[in-house]
Amino acid sequence: MIPGDTSHVDGRTLDPEDWDDFECRSHALLSDLLTYLKQVRSRPAWVPVPDHIKARFREPAPWERVPLSELIDRLRSDILPYATGNIHPRFFGWVHGTGTAEGVLAEMVAATINSNVGGREHVAPYVERQVLDWFKNLFQFPPTAGGILVSGTSMANILGLAVARDAILGASVSREGLSELGQQPIVYSTEEHHVSIRKACQLLGLGSRAVRRLPVDELRRMSPDALVRAIDEDRRMGRIPLAVVGTVGTTNTGSIDPIQRLADIARSESLWLHVDGALGGALVLSDTLRPLLAGVERADSIGFDFHKWMHVPYDAGCVLFRDAELQRRSFAARDPYLESTPRGIAAGDVWFCDYGPELSRSFRALKIWTTLKAHGLKRLGQLVERNCSQARLLARLLERTGRFSLAAPVVLNILVFRPLVRPGSRSTVEEATRELAFRLQESGVGVLTSTTLDGTIALRAAITNHRTNAEDVSLIVAELERQLTSIERGD
Ligand SMILES: *Cc1c(COP(=O)(O)O)cnc(C)c1O
Repeated sequence: MIPGDTSHVDGRTLDPEDWDDFECRSHALLSDLLTYLKQVRSRPAWVPVPDHIKARFREPAPWERVPLSELIDRLRSDILPYATGNIHPRFFGWVHGTGTAEGVLAEMVAATINSNVGGREHVAPYVERQVLDWFKNLFQFPPTAGGILVSGTSMANILGLAVARDAILGASVSREGLSELGQQPIVYSTEEHHVSIRKACQLLGLGSRAVRRLPVDELRRMSPDALVRAIDEDRRMGRIPLAVVGTVGTTNTGSIDPIQRLADIARSESLWLHVDGALGGALVLSDTLRPLLAGVERADSIGFDFHKWMHVPYDAGCVLFRDAELQRRSFAARDPYLESTPRGIAAGDVWFCDYGPELSRSFRALKIWTTLKAHGLKRLGQLVERNCSQARLLARLLERTGRFSLAAPVVLNILVFRPLVRPGSRSTVEEATRELAFRLQESGVGVLTSTTLDGTIALRAAITNHRTNAEDVSLIVAELERQLTSIERGD
């Protein structure tokens, strides 16, 4: 016997001791989950997590195992009822995707084979390359383009700007660090950009002050003239213009920066053009909306989400690079234990660990591949169009009540509006706006959130939802009207 070997005492693995029992309980749980999905419309859109449930997540760490039956009961009682609500047809908060039933299946398969998609020769990297190739084509990137699946566009923006930094500032910066430079690199975007752009610059050592948030025009888009002026000024001041970040579908209002013009300027100034397409990337699926992406095919990199408007389960985002070689140069670095071989399991000509910062990665591609196959790009594109027309319907219905006014033009699926508070009301517009969002959420009828536009609070609805129908839209309007009246009365 080998000293210290305890395998003779306990030969147990982590596998179920009774597979039949496990199978039976798994089928029952899956069946409940599908019922949960089928009946989503009959439940409140959101339920606050009660204190006794919160308390259940302040337990000591479980040194001893909990029996499966008890564990499954807890999943049913403590988890399922208190979800975000974004699978509900009247959830219009932030920009949350809905997910699909097929996504559930794909996640089961991925969890079963438990692949690590950092590299090596197995099927998952081929599925990922398939998905990347589809979108390289859709965005009209060249065959020499590359990309990688990431957790979301926040990460995509970090990777996009990391490659921009190395490509524009030179390889010595990735070796020596930015202090070498002695001058401040500048990234141009607008005041409507997503916060992840600032975070990316912070993380990349450029500093959040590297970001120049240019003012927007009346349609909340970047002004090309302002961009040119800012670049000139920065060059005069000895700073180093590095990249332009254009957004297709801003989070606040859905506005779309003039990418064609930004591409002209980036080219003539030798800057990197990164497109944040977290929301608007999905427009590529619609024949009628795709023209709004004109110029994106000229970008050096684009980040977009599958988990928002393409309804792939969280998390699933992507970044594409016009030049796969630049992407590889920024991230490829291997130690001997990661050497690839001409044959065997360590073969495979693309190892994704050479194309991004992570080594171990989940099989995200499977849920994307499954969702796209299950519904087809055409159908997914029609749903994007339908959400846009539902946002316009919501705008019409709200205006028809005479109780609300739009705060920004409706470009895509996002609507920003304010209540028109009557004279003599007990609340100010600010108070009424905040209260309306709370009351709608707490009623369970639906979810809208608030934002600030031009320094004033407003309600915001983003319909990124394949379950929403016209009746849901009018239900929301009726509930908002009812709540506004009661707020004004001081109830
Ligand atoms: C949501 C969003 C992001 C961040 O994407 P995540 O997938 O949440 O990380 C970035 N940019 C825009 C415009 C967004 O709407």
